[in-house]
Amino acid sequence: MNNHENGLPARWDIETDVLVVGFGFAGGVAAVAAADSGAQVTIVEKMPNPGGISILAGGGIATAVDEDKAFEYLQHTNAGRTPDDVLRALARGMTEMKDFVKDLVKETPFELEEQRNGGTYPFPGGEGLDGFKIAPMEGYQGFEWAKGLRGGARLFKVLLDNVEVRRNISVRLATPARRLIRDPDHGIVGLVAEQQGREVAIKARQGVILACGGFENNDEMKRNYFEAMPVYTLFTGNTGDGITMAQDVGASMWHMWHFHGSYGFKYPEFPLAFRHCFRGPRKDDWVMPWIAVDKYGRRFMNEYPPAVQDTGHRALEFYDADKQEFPRIPAYLVFDEKGRKLGPVGQPTVHDENVSYDWSEDNLAEVERGWIRKAGDLEGIAGMIPVDPAILAATVEEWNRVCAGGGVDRYHRLPGTRLSIDTPPFYLMEVWPIVSNTQGGPVHDAEQHVMDVRNAPIQRLFSAGECGSSFGHLYLEAGNITECFVTGRIAGRNAAGLEPWGS
Ligand SMILES: Cc1cc2nc3c(=O)[nH]c(=O)nc-3n(C[C@H](O)[C@H](O)[C@H](O)COP(=O)(O)OP(=O)(O)OC[C@H]3O[C@@H](n4cnc5c(N)ncnc54)[C@H](O)[C@@H]3O)c2cc1C
Repeated sequence: MNNHENGLPARWDIETDVLVVGFGFAGGVAAVAAADSGAQVTIVEKMPNPGGISILAGGGIATAVDEDKAFEYLQHTNAGRTPDDVLRALARGMTEMKDFVKDLVKETPFELEEQRNGGTYPFPGGEGLDGFKIAPMEGYQGFEWAKGLRGGARLFKVLLDNVEVRRNISVRLATPARRLIRDPDHGIVGLVAEQQGREVAIKARQGVILACGGFENNDEMKRNYFEAMPVYTLFTGNTGDGITMAQDVGASMWHMWHFHGSYGFKYPEFPLAFRHCFRGPRKDDWVMPWIAVDKYGRRFMNEYPPAVQDTGHRALEFYDADKQEFPRIPAYLVFDEKGRKLGPVGQPTVHDENVSYDWSEDNLAEVERGWIRKAGDLEGIAGMIPVDPAILAATVEEWNRVCAGGGVDRYHRLPGTRLSIDTPPFYLMEVWPIVSNTQGGPVHDAEQHVMDVRNAPIQRLFSAGECGSSFGHLYLEAGNITECFVTGRIAGRNAAGLEPWGS
């Protein structure tokens, strides 16, 4: 690409007012907000289909019925790792979310459904939180290129209709953004993207919004920022491109260590990881058939913590410096025949038109494949890890005593979630840390400006969603989607509010 002396391309191939990078929830909402503020908007999306990891999600949106209480709660979940004004903006945005989504739902066949009250953890302010999702609709099958939790697909369908049909926003698929273009006087004035193997220069007269997710599928970044190794992913599209592009123009980074995930399964013959089956926020009424043991055959965690799909991986991350090893990577799930019959243990969430997998209801197809290993007695299971059979037998004996007595479990697993392990044959599965979404990325202020290493806004550059999430400590269930909606709105409105450069 020929450049003039000032670093700008000799020719712009595409021009727009606001340029949004990535079409998940954050990018879609940013585009809607910018268009509603009067801007001409273009979205560039790397993958052949839109949706990102958003389309795989449960689809719950956390809202606030009381801004002050929500703010207090967010302060506790962030433990001082995110500035108050950023959390305040999130809390305020959460109070507006229901009306915003109600408006998106207008002219679609979908309806809202109340989801829950309160926060995930017993922190002060939780009573100021609420939530909703898009209600299931008979006959709606979701997207053929994605298989996930359905709620996210319904919410994405609402957004897609608002972007493409209601507002006719230009969406360029299979167009990865490669690098930002900076002008010394005006800041970020566009970017270089790739289309069919050719570089194209896209001019953004008002601003660029990075809504291109995290680094779930960038092994080098995961090795650099996470202690645990390996951490497997569910989606290939997010490779930290927004992070690299922002770093290239001097952005500061935050929350790089933090990810939302759980423990799950990975097999060499399938390219993506599987989450373990999950039936909603922890209640004392879902029997989880397994216990998890480390490489020595000992339990080490509450297998069903308050938000198992959000923090379930954390106990696996322990590094034993004394033995110089990760004794829980992989860890092992152990269950019995009655547990096997309770329902599918794995849950495919796949956004890739070329691969799919249906996990069998009774888990027998996975036993057949060797993904779930089987033995007639616990000694046989111990031999598969391998561990001292006496240690595994003692672990299971203690667990069965806890199940029978209904007393306190040393890892605080709730009584209603417990199931004894005493009915042969027995089963064993390897489990690994699985990332649903990373939280780290460019630092932003309360107006979604991307900040440089001296804490000054980088002119005309914004971020939204998981490309630099506010969640720097504990994630609030349904909070990532909320964040996409709140920050996408702020970024879209603010970018569209700027004077076009060079005019
Ligand atoms: C199985 C699962 C369940 C979940 N359930 C929930 C839930 O119930 N509630 C909740 O709050 N959160 C949930 N999450 C997390 C939540 O879905 C995500 O945090 C959120 O959707 C991220 O949205 P995003 O728009 O920031 O990123 P994404 O949806 O990932 O969108 C980013 C987009 O950017 C594109 N992109 C990447 N690089 C480039 C580039 N260089 N150029 C152009 N485009 C690019 C990607 O292809 C992608 O389409 C879940 C996650 C998973 C995986």
